[in-house]
Amino acid sequence: MLSKHAPPAAPAPSIPADAGSNQRRMFVKSFGCQMNVYDSQRMADVAGREGYGETERVEDADLVILNTCHIRERASEKIYSELGKIREIKEARAAQGRATTLVVAGCVAQAEGGEIIRRQKAVDLVVGPLNYHRLPALLEAARAGGGVVDTDFPVEDKFDFLPDASPEAIRARGVSAYVTAQEGCDKFCSFCIVPYTRGSETSRPAARVLDEIRRLADMGAREFTIIGQNVNAYHGLDADGVAVGLAELLARAARLPGVLRLRYSTSHPLDMSDDLIRAHAENPALAPYLHLPIQSGSDRILDAMNRRHTARDYLEAIDRVRAARPDIALSSDFIVGFPGETEADFEATLDLVEEVGFASAFAFKYSARPGTPAAELRDQVPAAVKAERLARLQHKLEAQRQAFNAATVGRRFGVVFDKPGRHEGQLIGRSPYMQSVNAVVDSARIGDMTEVEITGVKPNSLTAKVVSPPGAGAS
Ligand code: SF4
Repeated sequence: MLSKHAPPAAPAPSIPADAGSNQRRMFVKSFGCQMNVYDSQRMADVAGREGYGETERVEDADLVILNTCHIRERASEKIYSELGKIREIKEARAAQGRATTLVVAGCVAQAEGGEIIRRQKAVDLVVGPLNYHRLPALLEAARAGGGVVDTDFPVEDKFDFLPDASPEAIRARGVSAYVTAQEGCDKFCSFCIVPYTRGSETSRPAARVLDEIRRLADMGAREFTIIGQNVNAYHGLDADGVAVGLAELLARAARLPGVLRLRYSTSHPLDMSDDLIRAHAENPALAPYLHLPIQSGSDRILDAMNRRHTARDYLEAIDRVRAARPDIALSSDFIVGFPGETEADFEATLDLVEEVGFASAFAFKYSARPGTPAAELRDQVPAAVKAERLARLQHKLEAQRQAFNAATVGRRFGVVFDKPGRHEGQLIGRSPYMQSVNAVVDSARIGDMTEVEITGVKPNSLTAKVVSPPGAGAS
């Protein structure tokens, strides 16, 4: 399966006459966040049960699924452009007597619904992010013709109907795995489409999440990221009907055989509970890394964003986390040029960045999402001002990222290597702080926790050498 980094569909389709065996093939392309990567895997699992094997070439695919994201600027226009290219491929395949079923899934599907089929007739099925457990029946209906749209908010929980991934699929996905524990959001930040596309906050029962982790670990997964739109609001029911928080879920996950490292994402500052902060001190499997979006350092803008916290609340949460885990690395999200943002508001953001010191962060220009309250605000910031502020903020964040990376040189920590690197004999894995780490390591160590010492910094990765365990090699 392809991620958002997959190459775009080829503009000039050329279909080899002998392409493919009798097995039906699917091409799944995922845009946006980790939730979508996970959803794409689960859709591939469902389609796998229907007899589809995966292909990395859209030209070879009998089933094409675009799992879309609505967060970025002009998200739907980019999807329509992608669909136009796939339509050409679909037509070229049809000329050879080969049918292609084209599916648009994810948040753009939920937001645009039947409009997608009206604008691009090549699309056979539009399915929202809460409904992909219905894919078998929907695909059958779509193949029968007419264009099918399913963006209902279902009564049933899709997780109760999704098949387990096959052992082959789990192994192919490597030692790092995402597991969704929570979905939807009740926070209603005024710029965000998620509460409208993913619905209200729901948490999967704890036992179901842990069963999924256990099964993935049995098949070789070792690093787990527990994900949700607002994952630190997790409150899944236990077998006895009592709600379990994220800290307890992480504690139970850490006790499962094979689980070497845990992370969670994404969190809201208001839901950084004492339990969860304590987990950073007490749970040995929990990585010292926290992605905690703030969006702006200005209380006036935070209020307009309906974030329900101040910059001081955020800083206090950071202080509490750092008191529990002094080496924690912090990451965040920022929006610049939110309607009404003044230079003073923006400078408050720069001040907050200076005060916290982030290991990494994501910054974006504000762009209106139709249907959100902020899209109606009059006081839009001119594009040139947004671009100039974004450049200043990114410059500062990049300097902090590089400083953080440089400070890891000489440090030792465990890395779970998960795949071969670019150079002969190298493996690649993630540091506890989410940096890519390259080292010359025996490939037999893939999936082990390997102690390394950081020896150098590259623009987007670290180099390391393996540190022999005490006594190893002594004669
Ligand atoms: S907390 Fe996150 S997902 Fe929820 S509305 Fe705000 S930005 Fe969107």
